[in-house]
Amino acid sequence: MRLEDLHKLTPARLKALNQASIFSVLDLLHFFPRRYLDRNNIKSIGMIRFNEASVTITGKVQQIEEVGFGKQKRLEAFINDGTGILKCVWFKGGKYFQKTLKKGDYISVFGDVKKFGRYWSVAHPEIDKIGENDQISRTQGTVAVYPSTSFFKNTYISSQTITGWMREILEHIQHREFIPPQLLQKYSYPNLNLAYRLIHLPEQTSDYEKARERFAFEELFLFQLAIQTLKISSEKASTSILIDKPGEFTRTFFLSKIPFELTDGQKNSLSDIRKDLASGRQMNRLIQGDVGSGKTIVAIGAILMCIDAGYQAAFVAPTEILAEQHFITLSEYLSGMDINIRLLVGGQKAKLREDILTDISSGGAHIVVGTHAVLQETVNFHKLGIAVIDEQHRFGVAQRAVFQKKAHKPHVLVMSATPIPRSLALTVFGELDISVIKGLPSGRKPIITAIRSDKKRKDVYNFVRDSVNEGGQVYVVYPLIEESEALDLKNATDGYEKLKIEFPNFTIELLHGKMDAAEKQETMKRFSAGDVQILVSTTVIEVGVNVPNARIMIIEDAERFGLSQLHQLRGRIGRGSHQSFCILMAGVKQSKTARERLKAMEQSNDGFLIAEKDLNLRGPGDFLGTRQSGLPDFKHADLLNDQHILEYAKQEATNLLEQNPDLRGDEYIELKKRFLPYLNKRKEFFSTG
Ligand code: ADP
Ligand code: MG
Repeated sequence: MRLEDLHKLTPARLKALNQASIFSVLDLLHFFPRRYLDRNNIKSIGMIRFNEASVTITGKVQQIEEVGFGKQKRLEAFINDGTGILKCVWFKGGKYFQKTLKKGDYISVFGDVKKFGRYWSVAHPEIDKIGENDQISRTQGTVAVYPSTSFFKNTYISSQTITGWMREILEHIQHREFIPPQLLQKYSYPNLNLAYRLIHLPEQTSDYEKARERFAFEELFLFQLAIQTLKISSEKASTSILIDKPGEFTRTFFLSKIPFELTDGQKNSLSDIRKDLASGRQMNRLIQGDVGSGKTIVAIGAILMCIDAGYQAAFVAPTEILAEQHFITLSEYLSGMDINIRLLVGGQKAKLREDILTDISSGGAHIVVGTHAVLQETVNFHKLGIAVIDEQHRFGVAQRAVFQKKAHKPHVLVMSATPIPRSLALTVFGELDISVIKGLPSGRKPIITAIRSDKKRKDVYNFVRDSVNEGGQVYVVYPLIEESEALDLKNATDGYEKLKIEFPNFTIELLHGKMDAAEKQETMKRFSAGDVQILVSTTVIEVGVNVPNARIMIIEDAERFGLSQLHQLRGRIGRGSHQSFCILMAGVKQSKTARERLKAMEQSNDGFLIAEKDLNLRGPGDFLGTRQSGLPDFKHADLLNDQHILEYAKQEATNLLEQNPDLRGDEYIELKKRFLPYLNKRKEFFSTG
């Protein structure tokens, strides 16, 4: 059956469907309603007593017109449902509705109802045109409302028409089930044919809810099958690098080089790593831990086990500053241990670079710390055994693939800079095993965080003055380096000049992204050494800079930062024995979500909680911050709300592949066909990323 075969499908409508990426009847079947109207969720206008959020009303457009002048200009529509009148108002974007809505149309209105003057009204509601009969569905069954107004820009297709097509398709086509029947039974999911029916032609609310879960499960299950298949094949093609017991370097390090007791989380992660290295298969592990949880020690442990067995290690950091820091940290920890550590970053002199490269290819260098420069093809390792990737906020999933191509198939350890909610970790990092470091080393004093407005600036500065006089150091962080007129941000340079006037007796320095590497490094060194008391900076310090004596962080224009970013910045303090304070300077005008972000910072120091909150506020795409994140485009699954379904899907995919890794057997033919696209997409992502 083709789209063209459908009743009332004109060429104009076909074009509109195509524009919404609907090219086949199967695509159309996966075009799901945006809302359902039934007697449980439609409100009678006459019954509204209070301001109420997320209300659905259906009725007839009684009047629609533009009113007011100049800035006051707006579009108003009055909707009558027989029990009362509701006013819809558009201050912006009214043109579209002025064109598409006419007096006499039946529509559904969705939005927050508030009393303004005489009328209950909704500003910028979601509007869908419906049929006259749908309007009285309060006494009938359930009616599907499709996102027609937003999807089909120029051609209007009513929900009634779409429902008619769905009925036609479902009458003509039988779909072959591909989810194993025992799973459908286990989770009480409807079979495929029934599920389509329940989504498009439901009789009651519970119908479409169960069906939607099935489609969410389906997507997540197929995706999990794909990534786990990839995982199995990479393990099969696995490594010759087998490290069965820790040697001399490892013992020396843990017995005599670390001045503290490891936390349980660190011990567990190290034990996971040990098992991986001894398994004869390639390690692909993600270490998840909060800022300051001590991931570096874990990485060093893994590196030393490999060096003990005669291999080299690479340690990749997202920025030069962080690479330098790791280089220094490693050099200090491993001093006196006859381990040759080299730093490889961009912009090194040709002669030095050549020397480093020779050291790497001859095997003279045991550990190479660096930026992505380490990943370049010109860098040839003699015997690379492990690559540690210290991730910044961007999740460079694809970088892992680069190491797979280097000789010997080295073990790979990825460390997340801040915690990632589990649902995202299982998806984006699906091919990796995960170790979680819960909690921070004991003895840390939780950072106290407070939101302050500009009015309190004097108090804040007095607080800074007292702290510095007691020997403390302070970070002041700004969101941007150059003044952007549109955003009207105070920039770091400005702030720096003002602070010099405010604190003439303190040494204050500026650190920003446009400085060259050597300058940055010098400034950081002076701050580390305690020669600089106040460091004014842009977010370049976001990554794992470690200055335990820094006790105060002031974040300017804090409302402009994302939640995870704020948390990561805050992680730069609270590293020493003194009580630390994070002061969020916030403008008066804040959006609701900005306020929620800042509140969340005040209320919690737990990075895992904050990550969940951030995901809630921003949604998965924005949380990861990039299309390149490796996050698949799920149509029906919602990584925020379907976490339990994701866990089922992961478990069931694991079980199935354990019993039947190649999915042999006639009953899996359709399943294999369905998951192949997921597999190819994922492969493509790794090869092009
Ligand atoms: P992150 O997980 O953010 O990378 P780091 O590895 O930089 O954290 O560790 C933060 C600080 O905590 C370092 O100064 C490190 O020496 C210290 N540290 C690590 N593990 C412990 C521990 N078990 N007990 C006390 N301090 C620790
Ligand atoms: Mg770190």
